Amino acid sequence: MMHPRPVLVWFRDDLRLTDNLALSAAAAEGPLVAAYVLDENPAEMRPLGGAAKWWLARSLDALRCDLARYGVPLILRRGPAAREILKLAEQLGAGSIHWNRRYDPEGIATDTGIKAALKQAGVQVTSHEGHLLREPWDVTTQSGTPLKVFTPFWRAHGAKGEPRAPLPRPAAMTAAEISIASDDINTWGLNPSPYWAKGFEPMWTPGEAGAEARLSAFLDAGLEDYAEDRNRPDLASTSRLSPHLRFGEITPARIWVAAQMKAETTGQKGLGKFLSEIGWREFAYHLLFHQPNLRTENFSPRFDAFPWRDDDKALKAWQQGLTGYPIVDAGMRELWTTGWMHNRVRMVTASFLIKHLLIHWRRGEEWFWDTLVDADHANNAASWQWVAGSGADAAPYYRIFNPVIQGEKFDPNGDYVRRFVPELSRMPKAYIHQPWAAPPSILAASGVTLGLTYPHPIVDHAKARDRALAAFAAIKAVDAA
Ligand code: FAD
Repeated sequence: MMHPRPVLVWFRDDLRLTDNLALSAAAAEGPLVAAYVLDENPAEMRPLGGAAKWWLARSLDALRCDLARYGVPLILRRGPAAREILKLAEQLGAGSIHWNRRYDPEGIATDTGIKAALKQAGVQVTSHEGHLLREPWDVTTQSGTPLKVFTPFWRAHGAKGEPRAPLPRPAAMTAAEISIASDDINTWGLNPSPYWAKGFEPMWTPGEAGAEARLSAFLDAGLEDYAEDRNRPDLASTSRLSPHLRFGEITPARIWVAAQMKAETTGQKGLGKFLSEIGWREFAYHLLFHQPNLRTENFSPRFDAFPWRDDDKALKAWQQGLTGYPIVDAGMRELWTTGWMHNRVRMVTASFLIKHLLIHWRRGEEWFWDTLVDADHANNAASWQWVAGSGADAAPYYRIFNPVIQGEKFDPNGDYVRRFVPELSRMPKAYIHQPWAAPPSILAASGVTLGLTYPHPIVDHAKARDRALAAFAAIKAVDAA
């Protein structure tokens, strides 16, 4: 039955019309008003990083245009969500509000508070799923406890059957006949200042249409070879759907079905591996839901005694891509110039910060949070802890990536390094991942002067490895004591 009073749909990390359960339910219920609230109060929400804000501005604009086609305006408000949503509901005389759930601790706490306040004000509140294939609490061990290891998690996830089918866009939406003030997005200061995001522009199309285009391009050109090529940063071998998923411009349910359908015509190659990466995202949210302080606390408490170093100079060299290790520097510069970094290189750069420099994984998590367009509550924290060895089902601490070997293996011709570290662009393949080993004649012919045009390595790999292993042995000794 249509609700006589306006129905508010509150958009958050779900900036899409397709497979949006909150929107579809709201559209079926009554005349609609759509809203987005920028909540930057650190007591309530973790403020978005610079790259994510760049994305948000464009994604909201795309959503505004998509909704406008149905005549539904998108009302923008800025401030604590608890205050703004209650105020908006009151101004509208809204009878009902719908939103899709979020799973970060700040989001859950805010939503719980708002729900209670709205109910008290006589507004009906309905929350929906959609950010994940399954709700994080739906997957458990047989005895009903959370899972801490990916493979059994994914098995238990699969044992629940196929994920729900995605919903189409609502066929029709009726806009509430009401005029209500909206902020001007241009006053929100979402573009970084100074504007360091120029390099993002040719690379990304934020919004639902951009997400769909990215999905089709990947299914046509990348899925089949995904399992073999996904570790190669020099190839466009992965989907690059992560920022679209982060902002909910597309759902994993939609990706799941589209990938399955594609595989029916082209064969199953690549499919299982790709879907299992979507599974890692599910796992990260499962971990975050059950361990809300995943971003700030070691999953494994033994790491609380780890002898981290404070080294601002080294941290800066890492952030700027000036460590003297080409694969690390290429990754950090890819991040800075495009807002994204290939997964293999994320692992290598994170390992370098944590193990070669002994700098706390939280410093790395914070830098990624600020510079990634896909900076994600669950994936970022879970992945940093995974690399550190402090996380659930983590890489063992003693597995210390050798950046030269990683470079040679996954960027075999050096093309990735050449693209992002132009001062090495003339280095031959044999030395591109270790310019310090090149004879002077080759350095000169390549236009490289170490210490001048490109740095000497800021740490020696073998010494750094020994130091990291000694640090790890120290916390093992604490364990044993
Ligand atoms: P594809 O290979 O095409 O995979 C498809 C989707 O599966 C991705 O979009 C992503 O949603 C999910 N996925 C893939 N790999 C992983 C993974 N290892 N863990 C969780 N989900 C995964 N991913 C983020 O989305 N946001 C982050 O903030 C983030 N921070 C990371 C930090 C570190 C230190 C590391 C090692 C990894 C991080 N990842 C993060 C995971 C992964 O690197 C990215 O999801 C992936 O590179 C995105 O590229 P893609 O969309 O082309 O991935």
